[in-house]
Amino acid sequence: MRLDDYPMEPRFAATVLSSEEITEEGSEAEVRELVLEVDQHQFDFEVGQSIGVLVEGKGEFGKSVHHRLYTVADTPEPEGKPKITIAVRRCNYVDDYNGEQYIGVNSNYLCDRKPGDKITITGPFGMPFSVPEDKSANLLLIGLGTGIAPFRALVKHIYRDVGDWKGKVRLLYGAHSGLELLYMNNKRDDFTNYYDETTFAAFKALSPRPNWADPIAWDFAIEDRADEIWKMLSDEHTFVYVAGQKAIRDALDKLFSEMCESDAVWAKTKAALVKEGRWVELVY
Ligand SMILES: Cc1cc2nc3c(=O)[nH]c(=O)nc-3n(C[C@H](O)[C@H](O)[C@H](O)COP(=O)(O)OP(=O)(O)OC[C@H]3O[C@@H](n4cnc5c(N)ncnc54)[C@H](O)[C@@H]3O)c2cc1C
Repeated sequence: MRLDDYPMEPRFAATVLSSEEITEEGSEAEVRELVLEVDQHQFDFEVGQSIGVLVEGKGEFGKSVHHRLYTVADTPEPEGKPKITIAVRRCNYVDDYNGEQYIGVNSNYLCDRKPGDKITITGPFGMPFSVPEDKSANLLLIGLGTGIAPFRALVKHIYRDVGDWKGKVRLLYGAHSGLELLYMNNKRDDFTNYYDETTFAAFKALSPRPNWADPIAWDFAIEDRADEIWKMLSDEHTFVYVAGQKAIRDALDKLFSEMCESDAVWAKTKAALVKEGRWVELVY
């Protein structure tokens, strides 16, 4: 779905309750976790959905409204006004055409908000990652950068709300440096809550060189686990959920093609998984 296809109405007022940097000091990237409270009760959202944030800016022809999406990073609370947690990376980018540096409107706006500030949101939208009814289903969750957000909520939901999960849950998480590993660094290590769960395991993939443009070394991360992952993929009770920037799609296609030693075999395998609803991507 293209961004233009997400409706900008209805709009809801929300208040920023907190804003915390969750990347470690010294990290090139800045990611902040914001907790928002919707000013009214009617905003029911579920794990895996995204909200829209509207920011007024200046366009070529006067005023314009920027609409960008953020995936919810926590489960909904049962009572009170809806509270929404999002993890926002401050984005700046260099225009390929004129080489000028621009700041991303919405991400900078959000990262600059302070507790008490009011913002305008839309949604909630989509629900790409559903929880299988069968508790013995395996989940292979693969996230890059802010793509960890939906999995933080999903893993919490599985172990806290659903409970007694029998299938394997494997979280494969990539970032450009250990300082950027969201919810798995010295600042915030939320995933340690599940390390006692016998069915849960998380493994990290980092860039061998800590530069934003360097590719993530997914192959090193799964070298020892390639057999397990391939076995999971071949099991009809396995669901693979992928989230994060678009680069993750190509990286995974390359990796899995190498694992099955053929581009064609991987393309066919993936197409079948997608068709069965067992390979779902949330890429942006
Ligand atoms: C379904 C969906 C869910 C999303 N969930 C999240 C989320 O949970 N957290 C989040 O930070 N963003 C998320 N995004 C991206 C977000 O909507 C914005 O695109 C991003 O914040 C940049 O918006 P901007 O207005 O600041 O800058 P823009 O001018 O729109 O973009 C600036 C540059 O930043 C790059 N960029 C965009 N998002 C990221 C990112 N997350 N990490 C690194 N570079 C990026 C773009 O490719 C572009 O080059 C999601 C997008 C979609 C479609």
